[in-house]
Amino acid sequence: MKQIYLDHNATTPLRAEVLDEMLPYLTGHFGNPSSIHWAGRAVSGALETARERVAALINASPAEIVFSSCGSEADNFAIKGTAHALRAKGRHIITTVVEHPAVLESCRALEHMGWQVSYLPVDSEGQLDLKQLEASITSETVLLSVMWANNETGNLFPIAKIGQIARRHGVKFHSDMVQAVGRVPLDVEAAGLDLAAISGHKFGAPKGVGALYIRSDLRLEPLIHGGHQERNRRAGTSNVAGIVGLGAASQLVQHELTQTALKVRGLRDRLEEGLFAALDGLRLNGAAEPDKRLPNTLNLSFAGVSGESLLLNLDLKGIAASSGSACSSGTLESSPVIAALGSDPLLAQSSVRFSLGRENSTDEIEYVLSLLPAIVARLRRISPLAE
Ligand code: PLP
Repeated sequence: MKQIYLDHNATTPLRAEVLDEMLPYLTGHFGNPSSIHWAGRAVSGALETARERVAALINASPAEIVFSSCGSEADNFAIKGTAHALRAKGRHIITTVVEHPAVLESCRALEHMGWQVSYLPVDSEGQLDLKQLEASITSETVLLSVMWANNETGNLFPIAKIGQIARRHGVKFHSDMVQAVGRVPLDVEAAGLDLAAISGHKFGAPKGVGALYIRSDLRLEPLIHGGHQERNRRAGTSNVAGIVGLGAASQLVQHELTQTALKVRGLRDRLEEGLFAALDGLRLNGAAEPDKRLPNTLNLSFAGVSGESLLLNLDLKGIAASSGSACSSGTLESSPVIAALGSDPLLAQSSVRFSLGRENSTDEIEYVLSLLPAIVARLRRISPLAE
């Protein structure tokens, strides 16, 4: 059976070129980068090369990059580290209802410790109202956290405009860039960012490695205490091979960005047009304007069909996609992100996300288009949701 992977926002395959660069650091070069002897020296240079490559990808300087164990850790560090470091200035944070749980749950943890958090709503296309955002800033606000791109809808937020608002009010600005890396150009300077989180496994590096960009003038309270690694910002012996992989993938995606974005955009647009041409009762979840979404992401609600059953049927044909809804205690819970767009709960439960990657082909998209409309039609005939 064919295997077609359309779930790149969940994770991406490790790239062969990345593995090749990592292998020596899983075998011969075993030293601890903090050791001063030959074994340590053999690997510490590799860490710094990786730091330079990650910095170059987002227009930061290498000293502003702190390696972490994943995107979630980077988001936690950005939010909790800033809140604790600036607690004497104020205890109010602003974020959005559509952030990843790594951001939302970090904010909730701070709420339990006495911070106040404003969760900004989005409109029916998943967009923010920047006037409302600016009006939410108070004299107590220390941090604004808005993702660069949403993992479910692919929506891109106007980060540079938000950065200007943050600057005007002297508020620190964090962006979860996890879904944007390798898909759209990123520049922390131009965007006015103080903090930005990235995750290796979303762009061809291995799982278990990420990074946080911390602007040079900002001091965070560490999340992980211990040794002096990462210039006292994140303790723990470095995941050398993972970091080398993160650096290698950063360099690759930086060089290939335009080409990859063009390719996946063409495939995504073909899938979108093909499905709208073949099926009624579709709703696009996200910005109607394709330029306001990541080039690789398409999130659709299929009226009258549960997202879960559609996914299971696609899986039977070897097609991997994902649904925002999750089955908990026997009931289907719709995705909070899709629900935040204000759509009818049944439509929210019928959402499916297709997220494409550089290795997808036209043939694969045509294969999906040849099967999916018939699957939807059959499910609509038998589904109780069809009423
Ligand atoms: N932020 C966003 C937007 C994500 O999509 C994800 C992963 O799905 C994360 C953060 C967490 O990254 P990690 O899996 O590296 O912890």
